[in-house]
Formats: sequence, C-alpha cells, structure tokens
Amino acid sequence: ALHKDTPGVSGRVRVAVRLRPRNSEEQSTDADFADCVELQPELKRLKLRRNNWDSDTFEFDEVLTEFASQKRVYEVVAKPVVESVLDGYNGTVMAYGQTGTGKTYTLGRLGDEDTSARGIMVRAMEDIFAEISPETDSISVSYLQLYMETIQDLLDPTNDNLSITEDHKNGDISLPGATSIEVRDQPSFVELLRLGEAHRFAANTKLNTESSRSHAILMVHVKKCVKERDVENSGKSRTMKPPVVRKGKLIVVDLAGSERIDKSGSEGHTLEEAKSINLSLSALGKCINALAENSSHVPVRDSKLTRLLRDSFGGTARTSLVITIGPSPRHRGETSSTIMFGQRAM
Ligand code: ADP
Ligand code: MG
Repeated sequence: ALHKDTPGVSGRVRVAVRLRPRNSEEQSTDADFADCVELQPELKRLKLRRNNWDSDTFEFDEVLTEFASQKRVYEVVAKPVVESVLDGYNGTVMAYGQTGTGKTYTLGRLGDEDTSARGIMVRAMEDIFAEISPETDSISVSYLQLYMETIQDLLDPTNDNLSITEDHKNGDISLPGATSIEVRDQPSFVELLRLGEAHRFAANTKLNTESSRSHAILMVHVKKCVKERDVENSGKSRTMKPPVVRKGKLIVVDLAGSERIDKSGSEGHTLEEAKSINLSLSALGKCINALAENSSHVPVRDSKLTRLLRDSFGGTARTSLVITIGPSPRHRGETSSTIMFGQRAM
C-alpha cells in the first residue's frame, strides 16, 4: 500500500468489501449465531471472527455494510472508473466472491421494478449517456461469457469461440469476432443486457453448467469528441484546434464463484471446470498482486481472463474490485479466502 492515493500512477487496484444482509434462511437457522464478520465502515475495517472472543482485523479502501445502498456502492466502487473512461482511459470493475454473496446483485441488477435497486452496469451506462452528445460521440457494447477458457458471444450465440488479439504497436486488446452494438439510449442498453442474460441461460443449459461457473463480461467502448479550448491563444489570434477523439473502454466482470468446487466432483466435467475456474481466478489474483507490488512484470498471459483485461488494468487504467461476502458463520472459510484475495490487491 505504498501509493495509496495515486491510482493510475501506481496501477493499484482499489478494493471494497460488501456484506450481503442475512437472507431469510440465515435469519431463522443461524438466529442464535453471530455473523462471522463485524464491519467498522468509518474505520474502513472488517473483523473476521476466529471464535467467540478473538478476531482478525483487515483494512480496505471501502467497507460497505449490509445497509449500503446500490447508489452508494456504485459511487464508491465504479464512478471513478467510469469518469476516467469518459476521459479516454480504460478501466475495469470486477466483483469477486462466493456464489450467493451478491456479485450479480451488485453489478448486474436491472432494477426495472425498483430503480433504487439498479446495479453498477446500468448506473455506469446512465452516467456515460449523460456525458456524451449523440451527434458526435458513440457508445458500443459487447457482452461475453468466458467459460472453460472459451469466450462466447452473449449477443450472438452462434459466435461461441472468440479469439483475443493484441495490437503489437499500442498493446490494445480486441475481440475482432465479437458482436459490438452501438447503443443510443438506456432502454436499448437494458434490452441488450436482458438479451445477453437469456442467451447466457440457454448456453449454460446446453452445456449443462451453472452461470456461477463462468465469468460474465460487459465491454463498453466510448468514443467522445472533445473540442479542446485553446487557452494560450485566448484574446488574440484564436486558432481552432481540430477536435480530439477520446477513446475509453470500460469492462465490468461478474466473476465465476470463488468457492472451492473441487470437492463436489460429481459430474464428468466438474473437475475440468474447477481447474479452469481456479486457473483464471488465480491468474487474476497474481496480476492484481503484481500491480499492488508495483512489479514490472504482470503475468497476464496465464489465462484468457487476464489476457482480455490486459489493457484495462495497470498503467493508466483504473481498476476497482468489490469483494462480496455473506454473514453466515457456516461459510467462514470461504469468506476468509475471499477476504485474503482482496487483501492481496492492497
Ligand atoms: P452471486 O451473483 O454472488 O452468486 P447474487 O447476486 O445472485 O449472488 O445474490 C444472491 C441472493 O442474495 C440474491 O437473491 C440477491 O437478490 C440477494 N442479495 C445479494 N446481495 C444483496 C444485498 N446487498 N441486499 C439484498 N439482497 C441481496
Ligand atoms: Mg451471480
């Protein structure tokens, strides 16, 4: 945590932790047990209970309790990243945690029935739409699933094995085969998300797998035309500078569930799935760790996930990670390993 307040310079990842409220089952079954964590949001600290009288304390950039609103979560986790994308940089927002702890709730909720419930994806687009002018600027969206080291196009299910290319001159990463749809307003964006979700469900039914075993990746390209004011020439001999095009890319990743799944081992492909999830999450952990340590070598080549994110974290890109945890003492082990993953990024 050397360069705490200079993200973009250090390439450091900002890490927030969010606690899900107890669900009805946890309220009844675990009623006699305390939560496995205790949050101190004003101190940005979290205590993980070891037993009834002892706990370990961890610090995060932000500690979001079970009472934190979706709006607040957006503001602390994603808004700074969205702002820098509008300034022409790349940025990534990721959610990491055990299945059932609120990754999709945090990132992907559409909130049609209740606008206060909208998640990060929808809020980010709203902020982006507010900042662009439809005559000169453009926003295009791709939506992908990464499963067993294969990238599937959620906007066109026939595209089920996309490849990643890297521009050797500028290091830009792209997916030439991916459907990229220009969106002009919020309702059409929400429709795309809905369509992508439907395709994701169908693809996973066909593959006989759970969506928690794959990563869902939203990619948003923003092209913004900026007329830079010619400050030096103010007053005399005003020369109009040609407009500059700022290109930014926002990636939002709803990561596969971080739970250890090797123990289930029931179906044929479960072990292969487990290996591939472990591969991508541990590759991500190593990259995040390298960024935190300001290491000159970030091992992005180890997985498709990190290759895809290559130009969207580190360097000038802003990266924000929200780790999601549940309160149940039954899942203390998984909660602990999620907290450790978050700590490695700090
Ligand atoms: P994940 O994507 O990590 O598997 P989900 O986002 O699907 O988890 O959340 C699991 C359940 O918990 C869902 O029913 C969701 O609505 C609920 N939930 C998650 N986070 C919250 C929260 N902060 N407040 C209220 N309910 C939540
Ligand atoms: Mg989910």
